[in-house]
Amino acid sequence: MTSTQQFTNKTVLISGASVAGPALAYWLHRYGFSVTVVEQASTLREGGYKVDIRGVAMDVIARMGLSAEIERASTDMRGGAWVDESGKALATLGPDLIGLRSPGDDEVLRGDLARILFDASKSGVEYIFGDSITGLRQLAEGVEVGFRNSPPRVFDLVIGADGMHSTVRHNIFGSEEQFARHTGMAACVISVPNFLDLDHWELVHPTPGRIVQMYSTHRSAAKAQFIFAEPGQLPDRRDVAGQQRLVAEAFADGGWETANLLRAIPESPDFYFDTVSQIHLDRWSEGRVALVGDAAYCPSPLSGQGTSMALVGAYVLAGELKAAAGDHRVAFAAYQEKMREYIDLNLTLGWSNATQMVAGGKRAIRMQTTMLRMLRRMPWKGLALRPIIKPLAHASNAIHLETY
Ligand SMILES: Cc1cc2nc3c(=O)[nH]c(=O)nc-3n(C[C@H](O)[C@H](O)[C@H](O)COP(=O)(O)OP(=O)(O)OC[C@H]3O[C@@H](n4cnc5c(N)ncnc54)[C@H](O)[C@@H]3O)c2cc1C
Repeated sequence: MTSTQQFTNKTVLISGASVAGPALAYWLHRYGFSVTVVEQASTLREGGYKVDIRGVAMDVIARMGLSAEIERASTDMRGGAWVDESGKALATLGPDLIGLRSPGDDEVLRGDLARILFDASKSGVEYIFGDSITGLRQLAEGVEVGFRNSPPRVFDLVIGADGMHSTVRHNIFGSEEQFARHTGMAACVISVPNFLDLDHWELVHPTPGRIVQMYSTHRSAAKAQFIFAEPGQLPDRRDVAGQQRLVAEAFADGGWETANLLRAIPESPDFYFDTVSQIHLDRWSEGRVALVGDAAYCPSPLSGQGTSMALVGAYVLAGELKAAAGDHRVAFAAYQEKMREYIDLNLTLGWSNATQMVAGGKRAIRMQTTMLRMLRRMPWKGLALRPIIKPLAHASNAIHLETY
């Protein structure tokens, strides 16, 4: 159901159709704005690992009427194991330990979430795939937008939901180097055949400075993730063959199933590669242009928080635009003010999650696996996990969601 409210600014262009973009499109359309989404990929990108939806982000899902769909798409992981180079289990984890979630949180494949959000928003929203913004010129009455493949158009407002390497952010604030904080690691995710016959089960093989993971939520397909310390020089972001070579070189001497997983890279339909980095900006808008999701406040692909932040950011930004009857000056300022504390807490937490994930040496790996083994057997493990779960739950709920 869309509203019939009159708005100062009515037409909105969103760049990026992953999580933040379609979620924002859904809310803006529901409030009565006229929404266009431009996505550079030729179709919806369905790759990626499993992602958490935590705290108030689950309330956003409920307010979108998507709780049942998310529940259906839930990974329902039974647990997993840390394995050595021969595949022997070093520590086995149950579902409580593998996801570290609070009651009510959920976990889905990123691609499933992108599909659910796209399906929920596509009716009444103009989606343009295979195109991208090439330039933005802010006018008194709107923003003139140049496109790679379509003629220029003028929109009242433009929102960048185009991820960590946002073109919109580059256009309004300049080069990414000013805002990116690097952990020194890189991550790669691919779909692989489920040759280990994993069933809602994850295997993790840590070696000093590296991790290889594989899991499956359905018996037919599986995902693999490679996390490693970046070498100094990275290939260009568009150089997929160079990125694939880099992953292959970083894991060339890897044990366990690493060689089989590496062999799957060239055939994988959804190769994803990025540095494990954060984006920190003092402000998320300039004039008639604003940012949402990773483009504004990426907490890094290993943080476990980025998807929730994108969902909450989309809800608040759209809601403030509705509350201000489309007045971007009022709405963008309120969006920033209401989101700041939540974002800062999650960025801090995201940094420690990402940097503590990979153990630096053999001793640290031994300590990690011993601790996991002990935890599994502890009758009072809930108490022992509190120092980890409590800050996560706190950061995930650190915003009051208004009803717009
Ligand atoms: C294919 C893919 C796989 C991912 N896998 C993981 C993962 O395994 N683990 C994890 O933690 N996070 C992953 N992420 C990131 C994760 O989705 C985000 O951290 C989080 O959900 C916030 O989403 P977002 O919509 O803000 O940004 P993103 O999910 O990064 O989406 C940005 C979107 O904008 C599009 N885009 C980029 N530039 C332009 C442009 N110039 N013009 C138009 N469109 C543009 C991109 O193609 C993408 O669809 C992945 C993202 C993608 C796109």
